[in-house]
Amino acid sequence: MIPESMRAVRVNQLGGPEVLEMQTMPVPTPRKGQVLLKVAAVGLNFADVLNVRGEYLTRARTPFTPGMEFSGHIVALGEGVSHLEIGQLVAALGGSGAFAEYATAPAAACLPIPAVLDARAAAALPVSYYTAYFSLVTLGRVQAGETVWIEAAAGALGTASIQLAKAMGATVIATASTPEKLEIAKSLGADHVFLSGDLELRQKMLEVAPNGVDTYLSVTGGGGFQDRLSAMGSLGRVLVIGNASREPANLNPTSLMKNNVSVTGVWLTPLMSVPGAMQAATAFIYPLLESGTVKPQVGQVFKLEDAGKAFELMFSRGSTGKVIIEP
Ligand code: NDP
Repeated sequence: MIPESMRAVRVNQLGGPEVLEMQTMPVPTPRKGQVLLKVAAVGLNFADVLNVRGEYLTRARTPFTPGMEFSGHIVALGEGVSHLEIGQLVAALGGSGAFAEYATAPAAACLPIPAVLDARAAAALPVSYYTAYFSLVTLGRVQAGETVWIEAAAGALGTASIQLAKAMGATVIATASTPEKLEIAKSLGADHVFLSGDLELRQKMLEVAPNGVDTYLSVTGGGGFQDRLSAMGSLGRVLVIGNASREPANLNPTSLMKNNVSVTGVWLTPLMSVPGAMQAATAFIYPLLESGTVKPQVGQVFKLEDAGKAFELMFSRGSTGKVIIEP
């Protein structure tokens, strides 16, 4: 029985965690091509935090309910949906409105969940693993034996990237801001770990990768961006995935010439519409999930009412793995 109303987190004005308000809202009706899910777990993304602050790639229009990645059981099918079933556990990617007891999602954006994953792990899967795949494989063209540098390595994207890069046979250099985070990176298979604030970071990286880094997953951005490129090797690929520092990044394009380094932007949303892209990613990721080779790293878990605390934790760099919010 689907109720008429539900608890939801609403953003009526943009800002920090204090703008998140619990409200009673009508349960949405799935439109053509959509499904309605009873939300089991929501994956918190850095993008959610930026979106609520009005600092994301797309402009947020208030009022809205945040949450772009979640798992849940299907409770209603919209017109024209035939490949999914009522009762099925899926993870939904894209859209918004997941910080609630019920949320709709495009049927095309619902991933069936392998039996090895519970609802929390399912909510930790879509954004991080598909972004990691597109960064490493599609755009980063990583080959076995190459060196990959992964920043914010204990975070949601970082832990997914380490696992996929190791599964591809790469050597992983992981950086993060605390020794505890480096331990997490190491436990997932990172070959070399360094504190991101280490003043001798470049020298230390070149000691373990004398020919330089082949692929660098850049998520911190900011004024240190240009300096970090000096660790790149011949034909190195830099993937600009995020700017977590929220500071303007610096780049001198002529510095890329010496080693024929390329810099490519990565955004999951448009990549999802590239024909065959999601299928290729799924064909790579799912066997690794099913065999237990990779496992989404669930971090701290919060109740819907405490969504603001989850935002604070992520914004203050205190989170590890995928922060989960449960209605
Ligand atoms: P994480 O779980 O990685 O958490 C964010 C991490 O960013 C922090 O833990 C911290 O790690 C690092 N960080 C560096 N500087 C700051 C800062 N000034 N304030 C806060 N955090 C900082 O989050 P996600 O996995 O959700 O996202 C990681 C990055 O990847 C973000 O930049 C995000 O925008 C981006 N992203 C981009 C996608 C795309 O499609 N382009 C898709 C998914 C994520 P540490 O303390 O170790 O530095």
